[in-house]
Amino acid sequence: MRASGVLLSIFCGPCVCIYVGFAACFCPGRLRRRSEPEDKRRFERRQRKAPRPLVVRKRALSIPLPEEPETEEPGVPSSPEELKQTTIFQEKSRLMALPLELREMIYKAVLGNDVMHVIHKENKLGHLRCKANSEKACPKRWHGVGPCADSCWGVVDSSNIWMPVEEPQGSDGDVLPLLQTCRQVYSEAFPLLYSTNTFSFIDLDCLRYLSATILPSRFNAIKSLRIEWYLTWPLYDVFAQRMLFNTALYPPHDEATWEDIWRIIAGMTGLQRLRVDLKYFDGFRDNECEQKMLAPLRQVKGLKEFDVYLGWKGKDVTGAPFKLTRPVNTVPDDSSEEEDW
Ligand SMILES: [Zn+2]
Repeated sequence: MRASGVLLSIFCGPCVCIYVGFAACFCPGRLRRRSEPEDKRRFERRQRKAPRPLVVRKRALSIPLPEEPETEEPGVPSSPEELKQTTIFQEKSRLMALPLELREMIYKAVLGNDVMHVIHKENKLGHLRCKANSEKACPKRWHGVGPCADSCWGVVDSSNIWMPVEEPQGSDGDVLPLLQTCRQVYSEAFPLLYSTNTFSFIDLDCLRYLSATILPSRFNAIKSLRIEWYLTWPLYDVFAQRMLFNTALYPPHDEATWEDIWRIIAGMTGLQRLRVDLKYFDGFRDNECEQKMLAPLRQVKGLKEFDVYLGWKGKDVTGAPFKLTRPVNTVPDDSSEEEDW
């Protein structure tokens, strides 16, 4: 055993030195990882400021179930599932005089057909309506670890928790005033909030919290999802994790969170469209690490659109349920220039 250990050191030692030297010269970002205490401090702050899980409460705007009958009579439904929820007909309302199809068009114009950026506030989730006219035109300005003021996302602190630049005016996304009009409007419009908007995430924890803080029926009503994420080195790089540093990855940057997110997405029964944008320095050290990172995505199946955009070059991926796109080579081809001359 000792001889094999010595031999392993002789062969692996120079490789490690060359890798560290190469990374320091050409990929300094890889060696400039935040120190572990700093990562730990941010993780602990995020834990303290995490949104609270869903609790059972009386829902003021939901249409209440009628009281259960005291005595069971033949033909009278008695279980809550059988009892149909009702509300008083709003005969004097001009809005309610319209057909349901027209009312739904009005609801969609007010609170649907848009992009909602989901943000991590202190002890709760929030959402900001995208400022751009289209999803592709969404302004992104990154500063340090998070977006800055002129992006749709506002500003976040070092723990990626949203910070208000000025006193918030109105409700998140301005969806509450319509929903609070009356119970009938609430019950008709609320499903459209989830089914017609695209929900956009730059923080994996926000998706986990959303799945745990809203009713499962509403979470499963989401049809369109967008995720942008900066992967943290050395994700799925076993060699680097064991040989170079004691590199503990804290949630949400660790592999367990990454795999949990894809388990949650795979269980979203209503999801139809998913776009994922991933960045990771200049790419993975080898293709095997990248395949490990992409493996959890393969459990998401049956979507109408599933696009994955990687910010680095690499090999083609086959047999995947998603369409993979990598950056095109923008370096001019010297040989063609020589031919032109
Ligand atoms: Zn936006």
